[in-house]
Amino acid sequence: MLITSSVHKLEAYTPGEQPKSKHVIKLNTNENPYPPSPKCRTVLKNFDIDQLRRYPDPVFMALREEIAKLNSTSTDNVFVGNGSDEILTVAAKSFVENSESIGSLDPSYSLYKTLAAIRDVKWLGFDPRKDKTPKNVSLYLWTNPNAPTGEFAEIKDIAAFAKSFPGVVIVDEAYADFARENAMRLSTSKTNKNIIVMRTFSKSYSLAGLRVGYCVGPKKLIGAMYKVKDSYNVDALAQSLALAAIKDQAWMKKNAAKVIKTRERLTAELLKLGWDVIPSESNFVFAKPAHKKAAVLFEDLKGRHIYVRYFTGPKTADRLRVTIGTDTEINELLKAIHELDN
Ligand code: PMP
Repeated sequence: MLITSSVHKLEAYTPGEQPKSKHVIKLNTNENPYPPSPKCRTVLKNFDIDQLRRYPDPVFMALREEIAKLNSTSTDNVFVGNGSDEILTVAAKSFVENSESIGSLDPSYSLYKTLAAIRDVKWLGFDPRKDKTPKNVSLYLWTNPNAPTGEFAEIKDIAAFAKSFPGVVIVDEAYADFARENAMRLSTSKTNKNIIVMRTFSKSYSLAGLRVGYCVGPKKLIGAMYKVKDSYNVDALAQSLALAAIKDQAWMKKNAAKVIKTRERLTAELLKLGWDVIPSESNFVFAKPAHKKAAVLFEDLKGRHIYVRYFTGPKTADRLRVTIGTDTEINELLKAIHELDN
């Protein structure tokens, strides 16, 4: 066979739709509705095109230094990837033997299952707060706040699990800037041997198109990831723009605060309409319509050029995941729901 048997039977990850038309209200892929820091525009304007003749810094030292400074750690503890998706791929190669498994909450970020399938290992869904840890799991991906639910797990529960777990725990904090707390202190603690905390520039920094994510963890684990990564995994432009963005914490925090405010308003409005809304600490809400089936309302909204996300599957099919947009976009959504969900 030309293709390996695991790839042959692989069910590919389905990213959210990216409609071609700009005249849509796009609330389906958890992008930020506000622009990236104006400092990024300045870097882009002044970027010397001649720099692109050369390969980028393979170990992104300037960006790493800034990430290390921000998180009170050293550059040896920081890894950067072409989006946090790449970091997950590198982790699956670095920390999982062919005979071992990858675990996560269920439901959670659906890419994890695909990652396990690509590695041709098992994916096991379990909640360490309730379930016994199955044998042979060597990598646990704990999304916090979780996706698509938006639920927040207490940091002490993550810490307790990691203590008892023999493998590596990656706390996927793609949405942490919209939550009350984060687990970064676990990754930088001197006694930590198996916790990596992962962040992305795609959500709170409004840079999903740039493809940059990073993680912080013990030097030994981070060192292993450097051995596995592609030689030049983060391009020169991405390194420069991510550096400008991370230096502008005030901009990111201001936008995150706006998103949180709109999220709370949308939650309250949906509850008033009789929807079942899971309290979210993220930049989306996962909610069950009061009247129509989620799958039907999803299509009806699309008919009005409003894109939200619908996931099939036993634990997700009765809800819609709505990314927090601008206040105007959310008003349009609420108006459409008033008219359609009855
Ligand atoms: N983790 C989670 C939980 C996500 O929802 C996403 C975005 N789909 C990612 C990681 C990947 O983010 P990126 O590759 O854009 O950094």
